[in-house]
Amino acid sequence: MRKGIPVSPGVAVGVAYCIHEIFINPDTKRLEDHEVTAELANYETARDEAAAELRALQHKVAAQVGENEAQIFSAHELILRDSNFTNKVRGWVVDERLTAQAALHRLLEQYTVLFAKTNDEYLRERMNDLRDVVIRINAHLTQATNTDPELLNQPVILIADELLPSQVVALKGLVVKGIVTQAGSQTSHAAIIARSKGIPAVSGLRNILRQVKNGDTVVVDARGGHVLVNPDPEQRSAYLKLEREFFLLKNTLAENKDQPAVTADGIKLELLANINGAIDCSAAVAMGSAGVGLFRTEYIYLTHPDVPDEEEQYIAYRDAILATPGSTMTIRTLDIGGDKTVPYLGHTHQEANPFMGWRSIRLSFEHPEFFNTQLRAVLRAAAEGASVNTQVKLMFPMITTVEEVRKTRAMVRKAAQQLRAENKRFAEVPLGMMLEVPAAAISINDMLPLVDFVSIGSNDLVQYLMAADRDNPKVSHLCQPLAPPVLRVLATVIKACNKAGKPVTLCGEMAAQPRAFVLLFAMGLRSFSMSASFIPSMKELAAHLTEESCRTILRRALTLRTTSAVKRYMAEQLAILAPNLRMLDMD
Ligand code: PEP
Ligand code: MG
Repeated sequence: MRKGIPVSPGVAVGVAYCIHEIFINPDTKRLEDHEVTAELANYETARDEAAAELRALQHKVAAQVGENEAQIFSAHELILRDSNFTNKVRGWVVDERLTAQAALHRLLEQYTVLFAKTNDEYLRERMNDLRDVVIRINAHLTQATNTDPELLNQPVILIADELLPSQVVALKGLVVKGIVTQAGSQTSHAAIIARSKGIPAVSGLRNILRQVKNGDTVVVDARGGHVLVNPDPEQRSAYLKLEREFFLLKNTLAENKDQPAVTADGIKLELLANINGAIDCSAAVAMGSAGVGLFRTEYIYLTHPDVPDEEEQYIAYRDAILATPGSTMTIRTLDIGGDKTVPYLGHTHQEANPFMGWRSIRLSFEHPEFFNTQLRAVLRAAAEGASVNTQVKLMFPMITTVEEVRKTRAMVRKAAQQLRAENKRFAEVPLGMMLEVPAAAISINDMLPLVDFVSIGSNDLVQYLMAADRDNPKVSHLCQPLAPPVLRVLATVIKACNKAGKPVTLCGEMAAQPRAFVLLFAMGLRSFSMSASFIPSMKELAAHLTEESCRTILRRALTLRTTSAVKRYMAEQLAILAPNLRMLDMD
């Protein structure tokens, strides 16, 4: 049994499906003589597909961003076509019977050793280019060969280093019932994806890909963050029973989707959904959300082969708006950087501190045309809201200073002026800031007069307050939403917003964590945005709460000095308040 970080609640038992990153576990298989020709052909096909992809990227980026930015892709194509590169791979396949994937792995290792000797920044960058090219070819290679029909026919537990949005798109045919990752933590991509789909998941299990192979039986128990590989028959049947209990609970809770979100003492709450695209809206509606509190628009970019233009973005926003009638649609502008990179925005070099570097609104400011395209697309799509009675709102991530708030407003004004001058249909929308930087929390009273609403991005706020990377399992004991200093800051911010009469929502992962939910409600928060799959559970939880009882709990929680004391205390309180939701609690 291994212990990791529980990131999405529930229990699942299934067969392992390993997504091997080429860097982690090279293929050790040796080819039979008769397999060599086919393997070479597979490699050529994968290489051609990768080349075609690079050319398409190059053209689109040149047209939409600029010739300079597009050059990276022509450079990548040159590497891919380089005869030395290809000859090495072919040579190892033919002479040593390596699979093409293993040959690519060896090539990378050779170059890594060679390049490690240099201190030249430029040469080191080229090593990153080479790595990118290898990953691209490998992606095509595994798509072509990774179709074990046995595995594809049954629900699986995905085992991966980290799940990237592009990989998730490629996994479309699989039925996934659990996710285990080596990297990551509560707020990483894999976690957010798992939570949005209601799939139990555990992260931060180093080297698990070396311990599990395709077809092994794996148990994911997100209550305590445990993963079991090939459990004995007693363990297996015990976990199968828990899995059934989890399903039953989920199904029962889903039935309350048409109930209003209201506490035991009659206080109305707003439970909104976090979405990544129009495709998630049906789940949001089905789960009984009151609208969308966070549309992470970067997923449109991350899963797009190149730069989405104004029309494509307009359609993406419009479709999401039309799919959530009679509600709210809160669109967040591009939040790229940190852990999410796109090469076409010049995001190719490694930053020493990416989360504190050139990300989010900072990047949007530096690409004003690109940002303008997004603003225009949102304002145009917002005009469609009236037809379905949906109020569109726009918010900006990672706001740090008052100047930034002013600048975003000016840029929205400019986009609106352009559209007016062009006689294009658009709508003015409320403008909000995401509160995710401690500096903004401290200056909240200076910022409030400049915004129409606030959305607390607790995933980032917690990592910045605690100086603990949200994606690094080594510091996940620090990156905790229930840490006493975090609770104090949240209480202050919520109070300031309520006092100023500015609507405030919290859209980080803690909004759907029962222990945190109780405390946030007691702080005066009335609007919560979360993965749609959690809305039924939080409705159920709300029905067990009263303001008075939660305030008493909060008062006591705020006197505790350690995270573990708060966690322990809240676990106890939750067991008293809503014992039927025990299965959904995570440590
Ligand atoms: C957050 O930081 O809490 C948030 C909701 O934004 P993201 O997770 O996309 O950074
Ligand atoms: Mg954030």
